[in-house]
Amino acid sequence: MATFKSLGLNSKLLHSIEKLGFETPTEVQVKVIPLLLDSTTDLIALAQTGTGKTAAFGFPLLQLINTKSKNTQGLILSPTRELCLQITNDLSVYAQNQKSINIVAIYGGANIFEQAKRIKRGSQIVVATPGRLKDMIRRRFVNISKIKYCVLDEADEMLNMGFYEDIKDILKSTPKEKNSWLFSATMPSEVSFIARKFMSKPREVYIGKINTSSKNIIHQYYVVSRNERYLALRSVISLNKDIFGCVFCRTKIDTQKVSEKLINDGYKAAAIHGDLSQNQRDAVMQSFRKKKIQLLIATDVAARGIDVDDITHIINYRLPDEIETYTHRSGRTGRARKQGVSIIFATKSEEKKIRLIEKKLNINVPRQEMPSYEVILNSKIGSWINEILKTPINSNLKSYLPGVIKSFINIDKELLIELMLSKEFEKYDLNLHDKNSDDQANNKKNNYDRFFINIGARDQYDWQTLKDFLSSYLKIDKNDIFQVEVMKNFSFFSIKKIHTALVLKSFENVVMDNRKVSVELTKKSKTFSFNSSQKKKKSIKKRRFK
Ligand code: AMP
Repeated sequence: MATFKSLGLNSKLLHSIEKLGFETPTEVQVKVIPLLLDSTTDLIALAQTGTGKTAAFGFPLLQLINTKSKNTQGLILSPTRELCLQITNDLSVYAQNQKSINIVAIYGGANIFEQAKRIKRGSQIVVATPGRLKDMIRRRFVNISKIKYCVLDEADEMLNMGFYEDIKDILKSTPKEKNSWLFSATMPSEVSFIARKFMSKPREVYIGKINTSSKNIIHQYYVVSRNERYLALRSVISLNKDIFGCVFCRTKIDTQKVSEKLINDGYKAAAIHGDLSQNQRDAVMQSFRKKKIQLLIATDVAARGIDVDDITHIINYRLPDEIETYTHRSGRTGRARKQGVSIIFATKSEEKKIRLIEKKLNINVPRQEMPSYEVILNSKIGSWINEILKTPINSNLKSYLPGVIKSFINIDKELLIELMLSKEFEKYDLNLHDKNSDDQANNKKNNYDRFFINIGARDQYDWQTLKDFLSSYLKIDKNDIFQVEVMKNFSFFSIKKIHTALVLKSFENVVMDNRKVSVELTKKSKTFSFNSSQKKKKSIKKRRFK
């Protein structure tokens, strides 16, 4: 069996690999690393995310870079800002023992001059999204005329996103005599055109469909009627208490709707879609990566570049049109040799599509029966019992015990357990059959505006205490505030449109713990603007509600 050492990697990289805990090289690494280290060749590798491809091009690139020169020698093009940052981060970790290598990420939505400054300080490797790179080449902020290695990562995604012309222009600014390494999950005609035009006699490597047909992913589907999707989602979540998952919807409205319902039902969920600004999207992703959010509800476009390990479940809330999209979705679980589950909610008429997915991807997608309400409740109660039995005794409380025991002395054990159980389940909406909730949510949506506020869990708020705070600070009825989503550093909330002006005005120049409180309408709601000459600084104390 191949080892990283036998692939020809130097001791500095082997040391990093050991620290990372990678035991054996993956298929793409075994096939690609020796090829790139030993010969000056162009390469086409058909490999998906999750196969270890970043290390497959990253390790050889880091070994081949001339650390004595500060010139940009390696360029990696990637489709999204998220993937660009992920690659930069991965490469920096791999290069932890090679301090003289500078890796700089350049991507849109961030300060271009800051990025230019970093490039100027010396950047042997540049990781870039095509649009920003083109802009920086035009302004002469970056020089790629001397690069030796050019990596096109997720080439099919880049072309899907409309970067065809940008990529052609960028490649024209690179020297002819360089090595080009192209990684793609699929080979549409534009990718082969780029390969033919800009590569010379590329070696080709095909990696088995690890993410879709591998044993690491269990595929399954539930037949649901249109009105039952949300209930089905809740059931699946209830049955998988430690779920860390991504729920794919087809529209922004759907993502918003599903996440709002989950939050209302007490789950740690957040939506990511095109109506959020790049900064808001980054903040949501950061919370997901750190597992502050258990369920990320995403559209396919917004989810591009999501590169989070340990995702246990992918839920296809709605089936995508393209089978390739299903491949991309499900490929986000079952990574790095861990087990993952990809679940599809399909209507009866969509079962044909599932048979097609099975055939095209050569996988099995068995039908599962939705468990009954009783089974779900039973499982929830089982988890509650286990949690109690697992709880370590807190010796600091011992002295309070006699008083507590005395308080319950006249209640018999069975009644006490019944009370505790009822209390525990008070916070759950046990009415799993609330079929009107879709309509209610729709009605609400039209009358409400959604806001972003830069206070969150770090300020000791949860959704209830933030709602209480907003209601008392703005002096408006609690029922006019809903879908409060609290993350570590920021939150979202919706408020009846009639209060929008008040909200914007009330948070102007407000300072909390020496930090300016900033409240913005989310992009979709931004039809309203408020002008006020009032500039006096207000200061509010951090409020904690029990
Ligand atoms: P990628 O396909 O580059 O997105 O990699 C997917 C995940 O696999 C990343 O989290 C890597 O850290 C991890 N990984 C890469 N190579 C290995 C390896 N040889 N053994 C275990 N995990 C790996």
